[in-house]
Amino acid sequence: MSSEITRSLQSVPDDELLRSLAELVSRSRRVEADLVAHIGEVDERRLYARQAFPSMFAYCTEHLHLSEAEAYRRITVARAARLYPTLLDRLRDGRVQLSGLARLVPHLTADNFAAVLGRATRRTTRQIEALIAELSPKADVPASIRKLPQIRPVAPVPVPAGDLEPPPMSGDLATGRIEAASTTPDELVARRVETVPLLAAMAAPAPASRARLEPLAPARFKVQFTASAELRDKLERLQALMRSEIPDGDLATVIEHAISEKLARLEARRFGKTKAPRAKLADADTSGASRHIPAAVRRAVSDRDGDRCRFVDGNGRRCSERRWLEFHHRHPYAAGGDHGLANVSLLCRQHNRQMAEQDYGRGKVRSIASPETLPPIRER
Ligand SMILES: [Zn+2]
Repeated sequence: MSSEITRSLQSVPDDELLRSLAELVSRSRRVEADLVAHIGEVDERRLYARQAFPSMFAYCTEHLHLSEAEAYRRITVARAARLYPTLLDRLRDGRVQLSGLARLVPHLTADNFAAVLGRATRRTTRQIEALIAELSPKADVPASIRKLPQIRPVAPVPVPAGDLEPPPMSGDLATGRIEAASTTPDELVARRVETVPLLAAMAAPAPASRARLEPLAPARFKVQFTASAELRDKLERLQALMRSEIPDGDLATVIEHAISEKLARLEARRFGKTKAPRAKLADADTSGASRHIPAAVRRAVSDRDGDRCRFVDGNGRRCSERRWLEFHHRHPYAAGGDHGLANVSLLCRQHNRQMAEQDYGRGKVRSIASPETLPPIRER
């Protein structure tokens, strides 16, 4: 059964149909440019933090339900448009499409801007890729990754790491077989963005990491990323050393052991979590006489907050960030706040900064935003 629009279009004369299609395309370009401009302004004002999101990318994907690729491209172009406002005009009149522009952004400099944008005008994605290859011949997949399997037929090894960006290769350690993964233009964009200095720092964060973790079935995940030769060697050494424990050398098990150990060590350092905690919360000195937050308090706070940012917005939505957590003093330490459980909570960087701005005022925050950040982590 066709929808109403499909049915009504069936009676539209050919010429009118083509005119109407062209008008829609041009309208959608104007909307796209406005959308990017809005994203840029919300990003600039960091309004996502007020809504309990740790980043503009999280706000776009989790709240606005844009796809990762859409969010990534729009944020990338929006940030570049702060430096080069005419990018939005080019988007609006269709001289360059969003995806082409997002690809180009990391390659733009003040010197080449006019020339590159001129050459990119009304070009197809393919032509823009060719232009980029000319601008940055080595910006593509690092050559060393392709050389690895030729040296020794062992695949890059899967390890849980980041989140979104697929690696250039996938491998099967059991057979030593390696195959080039099909690389979509989106993946290429994200990867290239990483490599280029000027605007790369401004690019949206999330899809830039190199690893991928995807669910296969309930409680089964495929994890893949690209490993260096050094890491491959270390994994082989680890496999060998753990033979008695893990006779079949199953890589997932070996890695899980290694990660569990590292996690336990980091959690002990960062959140004061140990199997046999020395100090009890009741015995801890929470007076704030020292800047150091007692381990027992760090442990209790991270347990209470579930190792997750505790910021909640006006609608009761809690921030989901679990990375880059910092201890925040509700009553600021600098203003005499103590280290008591009630005064300390976990916040992500963005929300720690936001709270600090409330405490100290905007503008001063850069220097004092994280006086109570986590203690430095030292390897044992
Ligand atoms: Zn947060």
